[in-house]
Amino acid sequence: MIVLLRAGASVAEARAVEAELTRAGASSRRVRGPARLAVEVVGPHAPFDDATLARLSALDAVESLLAADEPNPRVAAARGPVAVATPLGPIAVGSDEWTLMLGPCAVENEPDLIAAAACAQQAGARFLRGGAFKPRTSPYAFQGLGDDGLPLLRRVADAFGLAVVSEATSEAAVARVAEHCELLQIGARTMAASSLLRAAARAGRPVLLKRGFGATVDEWLAAAEYLLDGGAPGVILCERGIRSFEPGTRATLDLGGLALAKLRTGLPVIADPSHAAGTRALVEPLARAALAAGADGLIVECHAEPGRARSDGPQALTPADVAELARAVARLAPALGRRAPKPLLCTTTCQPQTTTSTPRSSASPR
Ligand code: PEP
Ligand code: MN
Repeated sequence: MIVLLRAGASVAEARAVEAELTRAGASSRRVRGPARLAVEVVGPHAPFDDATLARLSALDAVESLLAADEPNPRVAAARGPVAVATPLGPIAVGSDEWTLMLGPCAVENEPDLIAAAACAQQAGARFLRGGAFKPRTSPYAFQGLGDDGLPLLRRVADAFGLAVVSEATSEAAVARVAEHCELLQIGARTMAASSLLRAAARAGRPVLLKRGFGATVDEWLAAAEYLLDGGAPGVILCERGIRSFEPGTRATLDLGGLALAKLRTGLPVIADPSHAAGTRALVEPLARAALAAGADGLIVECHAEPGRARSDGPQALTPADVAELARAVARLAPALGRRAPKPLLCTTTCQPQTTTSTPRSSASPR
């Protein structure tokens, strides 16, 4: 392990790190890099216990703990919640309070987005989700409103006191999504696109990184490493189901993978039961299972009238389902030592002016 010190840390502060390592039974040597000091653990030693790692991380001079034989050192060394800055103050994802992100699959029109945001807000969601750029399997399916969807998403979220998470499907979209959204989403289909990851990392926003449906946990964490290495101010992992031989669900929610990711890293891990289930009736059971397995929150699709949704209608919760999910989450929290989010008071009218709405159309294939 290498204990990386902050730029400007003094020799005395390095000595405090060395003393902590000695107490834990490890030998170390001081390394002077071009810009800063580090302390490298040398020789065999017993695995460091959590208390030692916590004491080291808590030292002011310590920037991060890097495991020398760890392929994804920044991911492995990540600790603590990810703070997502919003105009209403930071949202700590990965704290003892679960984070809920709710909204439609795609931004379609203002009235439906208002209805989704209203039920998201009442359920205690802190984020409104919704794709402006949609990565669809078929080129003939609704591809999202693109640039026009982003200001709409922003306006409606602001009216309900919610932060925004939305997907950037291309390098060109990153800056535009980052301009309107507090949290950038990288989707399952593009999880391993390294140039997109590098562009997302440079955007200055924390990133919600979906697991690719054909990606191993190691590949997922390597994608997170690209983001942290590129300077992303935080990464939240999202398990959304992987391909299996089971055709009854859209994907198989990999709870083992979720728990493994939590073991390998201190990054927050949330679950997306919607894209795993593919069917409304399975969303709540999968959501409960994911929370019980240690998920730090959920991202869930909902729609005022799922039958009219232009993408992923069959898995979208109705407003009544969302209220039921919120009750289930609240019931589970005490048993798991977590807190369920409560609705924040809406500080504005919660009724944005209706401007132009895009025409509604019937559901199209996903
Ligand atoms: C989404 O969340 O809108 C989405 C397309 O999910 P995924 O990338 O997990 O398929
Ligand atoms: Mn969807």
